[in-house]
Amino acid sequence: MGYQNKVVRIDLTKKGVSFEPLRMDFAKKYVGSKGLAIRYMYEELKPGIDPLGPENKLFLTTGPLTGTPVPCSGKLSVAAKSPATGTMNDCSIGGHVGIRLKFAGYDMAIFEGKLSEPGYVLIDDGKIRFMDAKDLWGLGSHEAEKILAQKYGPEFSIMSIGPAGENLGVMACINCDYYRQAGRGGIGAVMGSKNMKAIVIRGTGGVKVNDIENTTNRIIELLRESVVNDDNQYIFDDGTTAFLEACNDGGILPWKNFSDTTDEKWTEYNGDVLKQYRVGKRGCGSCGLGCGNFLKIGDAICEGPEYESIAVAGPNAGIRDPEKIVKFNEVADDMGLDTISAGDTIIWAMEMTEKGIHDFGIKFGEADKMIEYLKLMARNEGVGKDLALGTKRASEKYGGTEFAMQVKGLEFPQYEPRGSWATSVAYAVSDRGACHMRAYPPNMEVFEAAAPPYTAENKGQLVYDLAEYNAIKFSLCICDFWGTLDYDIMAELLTMVTGVEWTTEDMSTVGRRVINIGRAFNQREGFDRRHDTVPKRIVTEALQNGPAKGQVIPQEAFDDMLSQYYKVMGWDENGKMPEDLIASLL
Ligand code: SF4
Repeated sequence: MGYQNKVVRIDLTKKGVSFEPLRMDFAKKYVGSKGLAIRYMYEELKPGIDPLGPENKLFLTTGPLTGTPVPCSGKLSVAAKSPATGTMNDCSIGGHVGIRLKFAGYDMAIFEGKLSEPGYVLIDDGKIRFMDAKDLWGLGSHEAEKILAQKYGPEFSIMSIGPAGENLGVMACINCDYYRQAGRGGIGAVMGSKNMKAIVIRGTGGVKVNDIENTTNRIIELLRESVVNDDNQYIFDDGTTAFLEACNDGGILPWKNFSDTTDEKWTEYNGDVLKQYRVGKRGCGSCGLGCGNFLKIGDAICEGPEYESIAVAGPNAGIRDPEKIVKFNEVADDMGLDTISAGDTIIWAMEMTEKGIHDFGIKFGEADKMIEYLKLMARNEGVGKDLALGTKRASEKYGGTEFAMQVKGLEFPQYEPRGSWATSVAYAVSDRGACHMRAYPPNMEVFEAAAPPYTAENKGQLVYDLAEYNAIKFSLCICDFWGTLDYDIMAELLTMVTGVEWTTEDMSTVGRRVINIGRAFNQREGFDRRHDTVPKRIVTEALQNGPAKGQVIPQEAFDDMLSQYYKVMGWDENGKMPEDLIASLL
């Protein structure tokens, strides 16, 4: 129960479709969504393949709770080998597409090969069609989705790419419901490399739940007690704009390409300001929280902006104009660009220009240019051609590697590690490059002050515990904003829905396994300790302002935290997993 026990495999080269049972041996070990997707990737993607070649595959993966009324369970994992990093990559996308795929009858859809011409794939319950998309190719993601939405109607979810994905940009994302993204690691370029502009999905079926009556009653109880409560209310009221104040007060709000932190004028573009322009609320399917804020300022319109986009197009770019920040978000989404990586690359270019290392024609504070540069990057035109490379490759070409804020080719999220030391290790060991969706230390070290932020002590264990929690949570396909969800509730819900006994300890075991299978994939691709690094700025330059003033992470402290983490994981000093550990994952 819970699973559909069905995978649809879509061969784009031959325009063929086949159906097969879900690998329940994988599901028993990895549950669903994130974990299941990585296990399939490990099984099916040969080491060393070109992420933009037809041999890479795109995996859309639900979990056993998807399609049930379990709160916050409507997300979908979108996974492939990353063209940005060469690592595995899985992203979590919201909206309604996950539920529709499940209701169409599938736990997973696997896209293989490459269409000979631009097209899109229509999944309408059991019918799969290959459609022509020549007229859509070149359009912004919003325009393409609008055309498809008019054609198919509101029962269909549409995943689409913008020009960035078509041009195989390493920062290309996949959009859904206009403003929800599988954002990171160039996942949109994988779709573009397959000549696939969109995936359109309708599902009119349902999901079988083992104990529907008791499950429903328990869900109602949980909604009252654990979901819609004071701890989580902020996410409905303010969305992630609430993090702006917490980060500024904690000294981890980055300023001008992470050269410093905090902004004394942060209230000029905070949640209170943005809320004045709210014209609606939106949420994903099965969500009890509804974090989406729909804004309109002048001619700028978007759902969000999320904290990450505000920070990167705001203080980190030396910009304080809320309308420009919203416009940046809107244009990035439409172009099909990850706001974090695209923003980080432009602010790196601003610093390069200001330092006189290379003139990219843009300086801090130049908001209109920043928005224009997104279009150039997505279309691979002019200066955008170099910037579309991302900070790693562009800095290897022009210099400035020490302040190219990335790990393994994935740009930093908007939390300054010098004010939250564990964050440096979380970025370094994350399975897809610098990411805040694996371990998220700012909560413990800064917002709740539950762990001292400026020490290496016990940080390996802290990063592991946080990563384990997210690994199982995302394998259950549950949104991270259900912050009060614990292992007991996870095991209880999984047992109720599937009818198979899952324990609290199992949650921990699966979480650890998911981290390990991601590492095993990367190890097979040649990654080890040499790649688990942070930019030189973090270990050599002290912060000049704010609550974390004077903080720098000494290289020895970083190395120590990294070694601690490896020890907790049972990996060797080079970050390598022993063969018997890898064998136990399969
Ligand atoms: S909290 Fe937000 S992101 Fe999470 S499921 Fe609800 S609407 Fe989606």
